[in-house]
This record gives sequence, structure tokens and C-alpha cells, in this order.
Amino acid sequence: MYQGSSPKISCPHCQTPIVVSLDVLFGAAQALCNGCGSTLKVNQEKNREPLQLLEEFMTEVNKIKGIN
Ligand SMILES: [Zn+2]
Repeated sequence: MYQGSSPKISCPHCQTPIVVSLDVLFGAAQALCNGCGSTLKVNQEKNREPLQLLEEFMTEVNKIKGIN
């Protein structure tokens, strides 16, 4: 079974893992922290982590496709 495919970021306030959609990764939407209620908006220009997460996400997608 495959699970845990959703990329996550850690809340900068409480470190709660927050599942982010691609819209959030691309800065088109905000993520809501379930831990402290903070809203986060990813800024690709100032935060490289989401891009790394996206790379990992795409790696996982490739695995699903069987490209490896
Ligand atoms: Zn939080």
C-alpha cells in the first residue's frame, strides 16, 4: 500500500507538520496549521524548502509511475 505521498512542511511557529497542496507550494494558496492555527503562505523566492519538497514529491510520483 502506498501512503504518505502528500508533501509536508513544518510550521515555523509550533513545528507541526502541515500537509500542503501544490497550490500552496506554488504560492497560490495558504496552508493552515492545525497545531496553532497560523496561516502560511509559501514564498518560493525566500524559502527554498518547498522546492525541495516538490522535488521529493515528484520523485515519489515517478516511483508510482514505475519510471525507476
Ligand atoms: Zn503551528
